Amino acid sequence: MTHIAHWIGGAERAGTSGRVGPVFNPATGEQTAEVALASTAEVAEAVAVAKEAAKAWRSASLSKRSAVLFKFRELLAERTGELAAIITAEHGKVLADAAGEVARGLENVEFATGIPHLMKGSFSEQAATGVDVYSIRQPLGVVAGITPFNFPAMVPLWMCATAIAAGNSFVLKPSEKDPSASLWLARLWAEAGLPAGVFTVVNGDKEAVDALLVHPDIAAVSFVGSTPIAKYIYETGTAHGKRVQALGGAKNHMIVLPDAELDAAADAAISAGYGAAGERCMAISVVVAVGEIADPLVEAIAARLPKIKIGNGADQDVDMGPLISAQHRDKVAGYIAAGASEGATVVADGRDLPEKSGFFLGATLLDNVTPEMTVYTDEIFGPVLSVVRVGTYAEAVELVNNNEYGNGTAIFTRDGGAARQFQFDVNAGMVGVNVPIPVPVAYYSFGGWKASLFGDSHMYGPDGIQFFTRGKVVTSRWPDPGTSAIDLGFPQTR
Ligand code: NAD
Repeated sequence: MTHIAHWIGGAERAGTSGRVGPVFNPATGEQTAEVALASTAEVAEAVAVAKEAAKAWRSASLSKRSAVLFKFRELLAERTGELAAIITAEHGKVLADAAGEVARGLENVEFATGIPHLMKGSFSEQAATGVDVYSIRQPLGVVAGITPFNFPAMVPLWMCATAIAAGNSFVLKPSEKDPSASLWLARLWAEAGLPAGVFTVVNGDKEAVDALLVHPDIAAVSFVGSTPIAKYIYETGTAHGKRVQALGGAKNHMIVLPDAELDAAADAAISAGYGAAGERCMAISVVVAVGEIADPLVEAIAARLPKIKIGNGADQDVDMGPLISAQHRDKVAGYIAAGASEGATVVADGRDLPEKSGFFLGATLLDNVTPEMTVYTDEIFGPVLSVVRVGTYAEAVELVNNNEYGNGTAIFTRDGGAARQFQFDVNAGMVGVNVPIPVPVAYYSFGGWKASLFGDSHMYGPDGIQFFTRGKVVTSRWPDPGTSAIDLGFPQTR
């Protein structure tokens, strides 16, 4: 059995806690590896190494740091296929989707290569006579990233590219369900010339997370995962004096107005609802059909479902892979049963899939879903699309705005004015206009509202730079004997 270790001080380090967790290939249902689960002492050791490395790394020139980022970018682009195969083997998503995940992570590395420009401060000459004032941004020291199973490469890259470019040491605690991508990234960082200790991987579960949250040398925690854990991370981390951004779960609505292009809307609902078997925080899980488009829309979505080829994501012609675990598959199947018993119309039932050995569930479509049903209130995180029918645009917006979550949302319409009004009205962090998964490009920032994000800053892009640096303002006067005098008054800018 493969033992997945930690990465500390620029090398693999076998776990010493005596605790391990299973890693599966979800397409076969077989356990393929065991992952070390770090103890509090192992986390402390990793943080000590990262702290030492941070001292030298923050002193490395901007151009040296940028050069490492460029090299890392080049290697990652060359070997995307290798990383995609690792993701597919542990997560289950199809190879093309895994490669897409790496490509979106790569964008963040490309953004971070511009760190000399991104770290620029400002300068005011002669703020007072003979006095100049300028601002600089400096790294925080050792920062931590805690990441979910559903993007085992992209989400770590969202965080580490910016954090490292800014001059921090980065300690990653990836999901214990698919940890191999992180170790692969660690090796790539080393190959790109990153000094040992600047990128660390501690594998683990709650014990490792808690150890990071209270460790006095961790300055900031960037988290992505489910809402209850995000809230816990935010509250615990901030209570221990850390800067925290904690991105949580989602329930993303796609509003389809009566004038929408029907086929484009149905295609988008299929792609965004069932891609990665619905295990995306930006997946569309609710289609809000406004007025008379409901019947033809449900029909058009249903007609496309049989074309989704389900199977092992490693096979090139497959569209949708399995779910992450047997427990998760059963939980999602339970939601389908609940939807049916609460009165939803089951147009397509994913539980009807022929028996397979992996953690598979078919694409499910529920119509006539209402806001009280658990299939509507809960984040299902599986291939289950719910259709809620409303009469007007105003009802649709009210529905979205009353939802607990506010990650992404989209409107499908040909009416520019309606789309513009939607952008103005809706309470969500990321909005798509005829774009079902509006994940911002790397030079904007990613983040939701309401229960989808705890903290003040969004992830990556300009917010990422702010998050992983802190500002300092210097007021400076060069000695000039001609203007020197004693003055006990408060300094004034004259
Ligand atoms: P999760 O919350 O179970 O786990 C996320 C991380 O937290 C993992 O590293 C895990 O080890 C750790 N963790 C789990 N339980 C913990 C506990 N009790 N104490 C301390 N740490 C704990 O999430 P997941 O199942 O891996 O990922 C799916 C979730 O992530 C979904 O809710 C999805 O919406 C969300 N997600 C959100 C975004 C976003 O950008 N908002 C992006 C991707 C995923």
